[in-house]
Amino acid sequence: MKYHLRLPGFPRDLIALHNFADGYAGISAIEEDKLCFCYLTTRQNLRQHGTIPAMEQAVLARNPRLREILSSAEVLYPQPEVINEISFAPKQPVEQHVLMCGDAAGLITPLCGNGMAMALHGAALAAAAAHDFLSGSTTRAGMEAAYGQAWRDRFGTRLRVGRAVQRLFGGPVLSEPGGGRAAALARGRAGADAPHARPGVLS
Ligand SMILES: Cc1cc2nc3c(=O)[nH]c(=O)nc-3n(C[C@H](O)[C@H](O)[C@H](O)COP(=O)(O)OP(=O)(O)OC[C@H]3O[C@@H](n4cnc5c(N)ncnc54)[C@H](O)[C@@H]3O)c2cc1C
Repeated sequence: MKYHLRLPGFPRDLIALHNFADGYAGISAIEEDKLCFCYLTTRQNLRQHGTIPAMEQAVLARNPRLREILSSAEVLYPQPEVINEISFAPKQPVEQHVLMCGDAAGLITPLCGNGMAMALHGAALAAAAAHDFLSGSTTRAGMEAAYGQAWRDRFGTRLRVGRAVQRLFGGPVLSEPGGGRAAALARGRAGADAPHARPGVLS
């Protein structure tokens, strides 16, 4: 789910991550005086509450920081942009002898960002592997093996880290008042002990 917002006073050099039950939200400054506010949740969460506003009120707003954003921001879209059917499950860089690039080879979790750069880098790796094959310096099997290895070397770790970090989000205990030690721990891990502290906030 994605919105552009205006929220006077929100720091322009801050990327904040906020937890809620079965999801998490990110907010950061973009062009002009706007903010981009995106969140990821499960279809089940939406089904259970019927509509997006009802889910936001019932689930996201239980996190005080999200409640503050949802209640005080000026929303610049008539409706949020919604994308569904996203899977972060591992995929293969070579599928039925086809070299896969970008999201087709592996979707990185939004926490890590950089999906566009990965798509461009993956295309460069595929072009180099295809060049070796087409110029006769390797076999088809050699090209596929070389590309698969190069892709895993370049992106494997960050995809694994992204999936692992994403698993830290989505539990209600971190986001609700009284989450207590867990919430403090989460803030400490994010290197921030106060709302709007730099370089990032996790609540
Ligand atoms: C909500 C959201 C926010 C994101 N924010 C960021 C961000 O801030 N920074 C960042 O780096 N990345 C971001 N990403 C990830 C980034 O958009 C992708 O990782 C990147 O676009 C992948 O590039 P791609 O070329 O693999 O796929 P795409 O950009 O999805 O391109 C695939 C293209 O193929 C077309 N297509 C699909 N099927 C067919 C078909 N059968 N025949 C013909 N054409 C077809 C599609 O229409 C599409 O144009 C975001 C993703 C989402 C969903």
